[in-house]
Amino acid sequence: MYDKIQLLKKYFGYDAFREGQELLIDSILAGKDTFGIMPTGAGKSICYQLPGVMMEGVTLVITPLISLMKDQVAALKEAGIRGAYFNSSLTPGQYRKALEYAKQGTYKIIYVAPERLMNREFLDFTRAVRIAMVTVDEAHCVSQWGQDFRPSYLKILEFVEQLPYRPVISAFTATATKQVREDVIRILKLEEPTVLTTGFDRKNLFFSVQKPGNKYRVVKNYIDTHPGKSGIIYCLTRKLVEEVCQRLNEDGVEATRYHAGLSDEERRQNQDDFIYDIKPVMVATNAFGMGIDKSNVNFVIHYNMPKNIESYYQEAGRAGRDGEKADCVLLYGGKDVITNQFFIEKDNENEELEDEERELIRQRDRIRLKKMTFYCHTNECLRNYILGYFGEKSPGYCGNCGNCLTQFEEKDITAETRRFLGCVDSSGQRYGLNVIIDTLHGSDTEKIRRYYLDENDYYGMESDKSVHYLRKIADYLLMKEYLIQTDDRYSILQLGPKAAALMAGKETLTMKIAKEKEPAARPAKSGQNVRDAADPLLFEALRALRLRLARARSVPPYVVFTDKTLKEMCALRPKNKAEMLRISGVGETKFKKYGEAFLEEINKN
Ligand code: ADP
Ligand code: ZN
Repeated sequence: MYDKIQLLKKYFGYDAFREGQELLIDSILAGKDTFGIMPTGAGKSICYQLPGVMMEGVTLVITPLISLMKDQVAALKEAGIRGAYFNSSLTPGQYRKALEYAKQGTYKIIYVAPERLMNREFLDFTRAVRIAMVTVDEAHCVSQWGQDFRPSYLKILEFVEQLPYRPVISAFTATATKQVREDVIRILKLEEPTVLTTGFDRKNLFFSVQKPGNKYRVVKNYIDTHPGKSGIIYCLTRKLVEEVCQRLNEDGVEATRYHAGLSDEERRQNQDDFIYDIKPVMVATNAFGMGIDKSNVNFVIHYNMPKNIESYYQEAGRAGRDGEKADCVLLYGGKDVITNQFFIEKDNENEELEDEERELIRQRDRIRLKKMTFYCHTNECLRNYILGYFGEKSPGYCGNCGNCLTQFEEKDITAETRRFLGCVDSSGQRYGLNVIIDTLHGSDTEKIRRYYLDENDYYGMESDKSVHYLRKIADYLLMKEYLIQTDDRYSILQLGPKAAALMAGKETLTMKIAKEKEPAARPAKSGQNVRDAADPLLFEALRALRLRLARARSVPPYVVFTDKTLKEMCALRPKNKAEMLRISGVGETKFKKYGEAFLEEINKN
């Protein structure tokens, strides 16, 4: 009988567990319910796949990500583990056949979409075998507080409860605030679960926010100064994806595009071009990326601010999965807020929701959007802000984000703040941000005249300041809760809990303001890829070999070996099987498939 370390090497090619993995695996093997909260790229899959192989019976993995299932199962097969998936991409014939095999005990691990669980044929199958474990991937989907609530996830409990026995339940997610964590435990009825949160921090990611007048120029400039790097540019709308991609192509950048408006075939093609490094730059809406485990993404640029921190961290987190340094740049524009508000108001996507539920979720979406907006305006450490959002304490200074590298000066803004709050107060806390700013600035607009705000005491008091500067102050006051905005669609500005003390002259307020115009350039040596391999030529040769093998088997290259594994081969130049097996990422199964080919290639170079 193998132990878990031997199996880790045999199937996955790794010598040691990463932070948290062993504890979670041991908990599952001890028959306990288990809940792992680990950032993207931390290695959640192994936490259920390895015990899944070791336990007697079948492990069901429930995930909403249909595109992910296929790749996960392909990766299992590469590792020598029998797996299958059941989702709507199978024809009825394929589904029946797969179920037939499953009944005979052919598969150890089965990925299944939540809406299939209570389906008759599926239930028949679960009666014919023993279900050792039910794994709930993307577990935040059970919570209305989560960024991606899926009512079909509520079927999981129903499914578990109708089984004649209770299997182990394990749940995993990459993002969960405290509320969501509690929901997962309550809704899935986890019994005295082992709960483990590993740090959310991705130390190799550099975060920055910029507010450029010309976003395209920033993108183009970034690509020009980072030649050979692969990255994703996220846009909020399909139209923008088209625009940006086309301009990049016209400017000679090898970019491709992805959004829900393209045909299945084009999407598949473009995705492959990106994964296979044929087109190193992908311009896409948030429809792209679920299940993309391309390890060498060197940058993620958000052309627009996304709708919440959960989405942002997930999308930005697609950079640097190989552990190499990578950049996450957010290009903020005031319009992004409006576009997102529009999406929230018109979102009817989730057909399973009742009206009341939908309004509740909208309200939560508005709050989340607000916190996202604060991220774009804060002058404090960006990493600290994100980690704090997920309930993790971190030092206030990381030294590896745009704000930590910018020099700020502390400015006293007590007087401006008093005037701002005074204006909101004296006009009856009835107007939105723009109207208040226009009043302070002394603008002559139709609204100002209609509401007689030109007769307000504060009218024109800040006429010497730019609207841009006043907005900055307003954003800061919102973040610090001197002001609040109502959570309905009108976003009325009102005095916040901290306003009274300052207006009464009992408190002062300072704000950090950047000294230079541009944030300090990040230190050189960003996510290097080819150039820092021990032997760049050999690395290129191995990559080419990997691509040929991957193509021949129709799997993505990283399923064969990751860049990291290839680099290790370059550095250690293994000469035989024993030496090859010492490389991280090379296990028995993979050696059998690819070992000789890679040894030969190394020998030749
Ligand atoms: P997650 O699901 O948490 O986003 P994955 O399970 O996809 O992450 O794992 C991310 C990457 O880390 C994969 O390439 C995986 O093979 C690798 N990995 C997982 N566990 C280990 C380990 N113990 N040692 C080295 N690499 C690992
Ligand atoms: Zn920082």
